[in-house]
This record gives sequence, C-alpha cells and structure tokens, in this order.
Amino acid sequence: MNAIGQTLEGKTLALKIKEELKKEVAELKEKFNCAPLLSAVQIGDNPSAEVYFKSQKKCADELGVLYQRHQLPADIAQDEFFAFLDSLNKDKNVSAVFVQMPLPKQIDARQFSGHMFPDKDAEGMHPENLGRLFFGKARIIPCTAAAVMELLKSTGVNLYGKEAVIVGHSEIVGKPLSLLLLEQFATTSVCHIATGERGLTQEHVGKAEVLVVAVGRAHLIKGSWIKEGAIVVDVGINKLGDKIVGDVEFEEAAKRASWITPVPGGVGPLTVTMLMRNLIEAAKLKIK
Ligand code: NAD
Repeated sequence: MNAIGQTLEGKTLALKIKEELKKEVAELKEKFNCAPLLSAVQIGDNPSAEVYFKSQKKCADELGVLYQRHQLPADIAQDEFFAFLDSLNKDKNVSAVFVQMPLPKQIDARQFSGHMFPDKDAEGMHPENLGRLFFGKARIIPCTAAAVMELLKSTGVNLYGKEAVIVGHSEIVGKPLSLLLLEQFATTSVCHIATGERGLTQEHVGKAEVLVVAVGRAHLIKGSWIKEGAIVVDVGINKLGDKIVGDVEFEEAAKRASWITPVPGGVGPLTVTMLMRNLIEAAKLKIK
C-alpha cells in the first residue's frame, strides 16, 4: 500500500524542471545563436495580475531568457489590439507571446485566440495547438494542464487504466487536461457544474484514483470523499478569511490520499515554469 499524505510540492519540482530548461536555453544560444524572448501583454490595469507578471520576469531571469512587457490601454479597440499582435507575430526577435486574461469586453476572445501565430502562442490556446492536443501531437500545451501532468508524473505512478476524475471543465484547465490524461490511457471522467447540481460530485470523487479539482470554490471537495490512496491535485485558489486555500479540504484529504498538493505551493509554482517551457518550445519551432 502507498504511504499516506505525501506532499506533492510544486516548488521542488519546478526547480528540477528549471535546471533542465536552463540547459536547453544554453544550447539554443550556443548552437543556434538564439535567445528566446517572451513578450507579455497586459490590457488595462489588473493589480491581481501583477504577481504573475513578476514571477514571469523572475523565472525568465533565472533561465536566462529575454522578457519584455507591454502595457496597452484598457479601452484599446479590437482592430488596434490585433494590429499590435500582428506586429509581435511578425517580429523575428519575439519567440512567444503571452496575453493576460481576461480580455476587456470590446475584444472577442474567440477571434483573439485564432489571431495569435500558433507557433508563438505561449499558452497553447490557439485552435491549432488545441487541435494538436486532440490528436496526441501537442507541442505547446496549456500551462496549468501541463503543470498538473508534471506533478502526476513526479509521483512515478503509471496512469494506464487508472480511474481519473477531473472536477471542472474550463478551457484552460479541465478540458485540455482530460485530453492529456486520455493520452496516458487513464479512464477519465469530467465533472462540472451540472454534476454538482445533481449532487453527484461526491460519487465520482469517491471512485477517483487520480483526482484533479479546478473549480474555484473553497473546500468544495470534502476530505472524507477521497478514495484511500488517491493522488489529489488541487488547482483551486480561493481566499478564505486571510488565508489562501484550495478546492479540497486539505487536512482531511491528506489522511486518505497517497499524494496531495498543498495550496499554495502545489500547482501554482509550476505554471510559470510551464509557460517558460512553452517559450523554449516556440524558440525551437522557429529554428526548425
Ligand atoms: P472556471 O471558472 O473557468 O471553471 C470552473 C469549473 O468548475 C467549470 O467547469 C464549472 O462547471 C465547474 N463547477 C462550478 N461549480 C461546481 C460545482 N459545484 N461542482 C462541480 N463543478 C463545478 O475555472 P478555472 O479558470 O479553470 O479555474 C478554477 C480554479 O483554478 C480557480 O480557483 C482558479 O483561480 C484556479 N487556477 C489556478 C491556476 C494555477 O496556476 N494554480 C491556474 C488556473 C486556474
């Protein structure tokens, strides 16, 4: 039987992956005279995004890649924004582009995701990149889903035939993750708001040998629902009083799970590392 309550630390894993990425960056510079550059775009002011931009810059510095930040006005017209994106798409020095979400209401999110050059799409949300994911040929993978897969991989547990349950079917986490888990032949179920409304989430969670929760509701998943020995990855970030907590009741769940991510400190620290991995992948695509 697996040990119970082992913590799946994102920070430790991020350090390990960053060491590998540093070597790739050095090789790109040495062999191809290529210095990967990430262009990060923000529209308007969003104080809560500031932390993410800062951690992007810090991670870029650690890896030795270039980083530039563009601040656009909150009321920028869609055409103007797309013209700006085109200039980044055409700029030979820019390897990949990150755009902070959510977009202001005058910009159509669907049109935007198709507007980015797929090989420069740092977040893997262009329809072509999502199509590649569908066909098991992914190159640039949505960052949070990729972070979850790295955490699962680090447990050393073979996902083949495992009962995997994802709670949350968002485009950035649940849906791409379902494809990545299927790719590993996990038997994958996806729960969402309608599952919750029918009161069936507990039943699904109780079957999960691998459970990933990405909802955004503090302690939605009770510790007592967790199957003995399950791997639990909690993507949720919620403010509860003056504390940040996940979607899973950590203390109780840790008594039953074999592995469990803390919040904060689980998925979060890996997400920016995955963004940098996508940047490096984009730089390699340019060379090819
Ligand atoms: P979202 O709001 O786009 O989607 C929420 C999902 O939860 C939907 O699929 C919805 O149907 C489902 N849902 C809502 N209520 C439910 C219920 N009662 N029972 C079952 N399912 C229910 O969410 P998102 O953008 O994927 O984010 C989810 C959480 O993950 C948020 O807390 C967000 O902050 C966090 N997040 C963290 C990271 C990270 O790097 N750590 C990255 C992205 C998102």
